Formats: sequence, C-alpha cells, structure tokens
Amino acid sequence: MSIKTPFAVAALAALLPLYAGQADIPQHFSDAAKAKLADSVKIAPSEHQLNIVYFHGNDVEPAKDYERRLSELFVYLQQFYAREMARNGFGHRSFGLSMLPNGNVDITTIKGSLPHKEYPYSGGHGKVQHEVAAYFAAHPEKKRSHHTLILMPTWQDAQYSDANPGGVPFYGVGQTCYALDYADFDLRHLGENTPQGRLLTKWFGGMAHELGHGLNLPHNNGTAQEMKELGTPLMGAGNYTFGMTPTFLTKATCRILDRSETFAPAGDKTAFYTTNEPVTVENPQMKLKDGALVYRFRAGSNFKHVNAYIQDAPFAVNQDYEKVAFTDVKRKNGECLLRIPLDAISALAGAKELRGENAQKGVGGIDLVFVQEDGTRYTHRVTFNWADISAKGTPFIEVKSFKGC
Ligand code: ZN
Repeated sequence: MSIKTPFAVAALAALLPLYAGQADIPQHFSDAAKAKLADSVKIAPSEHQLNIVYFHGNDVEPAKDYERRLSELFVYLQQFYAREMARNGFGHRSFGLSMLPNGNVDITTIKGSLPHKEYPYSGGHGKVQHEVAAYFAAHPEKKRSHHTLILMPTWQDAQYSDANPGGVPFYGVGQTCYALDYADFDLRHLGENTPQGRLLTKWFGGMAHELGHGLNLPHNNGTAQEMKELGTPLMGAGNYTFGMTPTFLTKATCRILDRSETFAPAGDKTAFYTTNEPVTVENPQMKLKDGALVYRFRAGSNFKHVNAYIQDAPFAVNQDYEKVAFTDVKRKNGECLLRIPLDAISALAGAKELRGENAQKGVGGIDLVFVQEDGTRYTHRVTFNWADISAKGTPFIEVKSFKGC
C-alpha cells in the first residue's frame, strides 16, 4: 500500500480538475473572471455532464476566443446553480461539466455541412439537431447525458452583428436548448451598466434561463414574499435581471433539478427518464379557509417530490411566467394537503378578486408536478373559475393529467 499511495494521490490529483469545480481558477482566465470567481464553492462531483456543443455554418468561424469566454461563463453559471441549490437545502450541487486539463470546459465544436443562413432562428433547429445527433452517433463518448446546450455564433449582416446579436436559434426544445455567441459575450461585462453589460444580461441571462428549460424546468415565480426578499426567479423573468439585480432559483425549481440527470451525484446509477408509471391523483378538492386556498388530493406514492403551481389563465407555454410555485405539500398515507395563502399569490388577478381588490374574475388553475426518482415528471391540472371558490368547495372546469411539466 505504501508504494501505491503516491500513484493513487497522483492519479487523484490528475482527476481533480475534472470535478473540483472552481477552487483552482485557471491561470488563462481573464482577471475580471478571476475576480468574479474568487469566492467559488466546491461543487459535488456529478455522475453525468451537460453536453456543450458549438455549432457553426461551413462559411463562418466561431466568435473570437470562444473557448476561454464560454468556459468562464459556464463555470460562473455552474456556481450560480450550486449556490441556489445549497440555499434551498440540496448542497453545492450543479449541472456537471466535462473539463479539459487546462481548466476550460470541454466544448464539442461542430462545423455544419451548410452555410450559416441555412440554420436560421425560425426552422433552423431541425437541421442543427440532425447534424448534432449524427455527430454523437459517430462519437458516442462525447454524449455524456440526455441534456445538450448548443451555442451558435451571431449572424453578421445588415440586421445582426456583435452589437445586436441574433439570426440563430435561441429557445429550448425538450432537453436540447440553444444560446448564441458573439465577441463581447464575456464574463468581464457582467453587472456593468454599459451597452455590453446590458447585452450580456440579455444573452447570458437568456442562456441561463434556456438551459433551465433544457434541464427539465418549467416557468415559475416565487411567492410575494420571496419576490420581495430574493428578487426575480431565473425561470420567471430572471433572464432580464441575471447579473444586474438579485436573481434566484425557487425551491420548486431545485426539487426538479435534484432529480435532473446532470445533477446526479457521482455514483448515482439511476437510469434517468426510463420509467413509464404515471402518478395517479384522486379526489382533488379545494376550499377557501382563513385567507388561504386549501387544496386536498390523494396521490400514489411513486414520486420523490411534488410541486404545486397556481396561475391565472391562459396556461399555454410562454404565457405562464407568473405562475407561483409552492413546495410545502403535506403527505400522509397518500393523503396530501397544500395551503396557498392569498397573500402569497397577491400578484394573481384571481387572488386580488378574492382579497376584495378590484380585479377581473377569470379562470385559474393549479398544476401538481410530480418528480420521480428517475427525473420523469407528471402534471395533474385542475382549472376553475376564481368566482366559484368558496368555503364549501370549488367545482372544477377541467381535470387532466399529462407527462412532463
Ligand atoms: Zn422560458
């Protein structure tokens, strides 16, 4: 053993840059990045890593110095997620990143088969994803999880430039999400009240938010109290505040990330997203009692977490930024109870009406999102007229369940 120890130590030391996060900040990072990462926390090693792809047309090159710039941004973003996970009780866990020996993030750069204009914002996704899938099929060792973030360099034409980036896909599609790159996409500008600083919040905050979708997250807002104390949730309007004003992850968000593949701690051998056993919900009932909505239901036990989200209609994606997240569902022998104080949802028009303020009566809804051990989510949705809510009970307009959230 005495002979093996030095080798074991050396081997461990060689492995550390892969996992240790940012205790050692690479020398080649900019001084501004080093300053912003100076208080980095150690991040728990992850079993799986986020796939980061840089995809560009065959007639353009990646934006200048992209490997250093993007490495700094991803390391900073990984820290943000880790701090918020810890604040919500999950320890310093974050999406896993595959690191190179020099401390850069391992980015898979793919030159597309077509000119850049063939991969536009509208409709470009299909072609990009097809080529990325072909690349991963040929290089299976590069595919480290189900989750992929694809960056593409801004177009440079009459409309778009480094000062006004765009042209390329920028959205989430299932567990794939897109972001864009441009010359000043650089951590040094974060928080600056300058054109580059405001642009960075827009596109870095945008990337942070789209990545959230790619890691399984739905939109949500905090309670009125959380919004006052903590700022703006990243999965609400936080893409517009990130780096400028306080931005946070709700506990509901962190509970989904707790069972998101790239957050799984090293050694967690779960086969993610493989089961197909819907969570059953029976007998949902809602009453108004002591200034709160009291929501009761009976649920099967095949889940780890359940979040509740309450909102005004409509319920379509991208019309749901205001839905308020709750996590304190009490569970006992399959009976579940959730109390939603009207004060906590005071921003919703329906709650205003119930509080006696002047507001439009309309339709509201509660989504229960069940998070299973393997990361699969099921949603159970009830909708109702706010005007029908009473101490005796509330008739539901519609009750439905679906996979995902
Ligand atoms: Zn979004």
